[in-house]
Amino acid sequence: MRLGILGGGQLGRMLALAAAPLGVRCTVVDASPDACAGHVAELIVASPDDPAALDRLAATCDAVTAEWENVPAAALERLARDVPTWPPAEAFAIAQDRVREKDLFGDLGIAVAPWRVVATLDELEQAVAAIGCSAFLKTRGGGYDGKGQARIAVPEDVGSAWRSIGGAPSILEGAVEFARELSVIAARATDGSTVVYPLTENVHRDGILRTSTAPAPGLTAELQARGEGIARVILDRLAYVGVLAVELFETTAGELIANEFAPRVHNSGHWTIDGAGCSQFSNHVRAVLGLPLGAVEPVRPTVMTNLIGDVPALADLAANPGRIHLYGKAARPGRKVGHVNVVG
Ligand code: AMP
Repeated sequence: MRLGILGGGQLGRMLALAAAPLGVRCTVVDASPDACAGHVAELIVASPDDPAALDRLAATCDAVTAEWENVPAAALERLARDVPTWPPAEAFAIAQDRVREKDLFGDLGIAVAPWRVVATLDELEQAVAAIGCSAFLKTRGGGYDGKGQARIAVPEDVGSAWRSIGGAPSILEGAVEFARELSVIAARATDGSTVVYPLTENVHRDGILRTSTAPAPGLTAELQARGEGIARVILDRLAYVGVLAVELFETTAGELIANEFAPRVHNSGHWTIDGAGCSQFSNHVRAVLGLPLGAVEPVRPTVMTNLIGDVPALADLAANPGRIHLYGKAARPGRKVGHVNVVG
């Protein structure tokens, strides 16, 4: 079998690495000739929405998926006419627009922080008056790893926040006083069967994930059930196939508030490569190819630490007791270049 993947970053690379033991080969599409997934899969150098590249995937692959969240929904719709293409285009269209994403959460009864649509500086000022000035201004689309975001702490921040996001269509979101950040990662197969990994506790700095601990310390069956419930209603509403991640805030009162979802494998699920019976990458490959899903129970508690910016020397890493995953990417400030899983 052959799986097509739109986007050739580390997520595509880890999908291809998980596909190999299933006897599945991968073709990735990425505009960069040095895309790191291309080190372990066939690489088509083209924009992931290039019509000729899409036609080639449709002609040569048994299924197509995406690891690049901003892949245009139209490209996925075009592919879906000719080849099974998962997750559904609608999931990407919604995740690419924070307004549609909040509306979906609202429709499904999932709690979110107070928020307002902001299209002008005037509307931003009105939104701050309504929500309060402890808030985040976030562009509707195109943000990742804290980019396209500005923190507002005092009224004087409003003008600089608006300028820093370039006056782009945005939302203002009230800051959540969270006790901790959690995420839930789930996979849904073509027959609708669903598996959910134990909730993971995540620590971010400067908007970038630093560590994930799974299962989340102190995880109770009740908290797991609430997190699972959030993932399941989204999966079912979207008739979803593949892995979905939902980022959550847990408040001091124990309430779960949804931040955003990702229609793809997720950084907070990288622990599953070494810490769970079947990794999120293997389960995503299985789901989109119409295969049965694998076990999600943790084999042992696991901590994942991202390697950010510098690429450590292998000689230094080799002494690390953790399992090492380097992505073959060049060093660059703020860039995710690998991760280490410490199991047990
Ligand atoms: P995002 O890109 O929306 O996932 O935001 C990146 C990180 O910024 C989150 O993981 C939080 O650490 C922080 N953050 C974003 N939105 C809020 C919020 N409404 N309240 C508190 N912290 C937030």
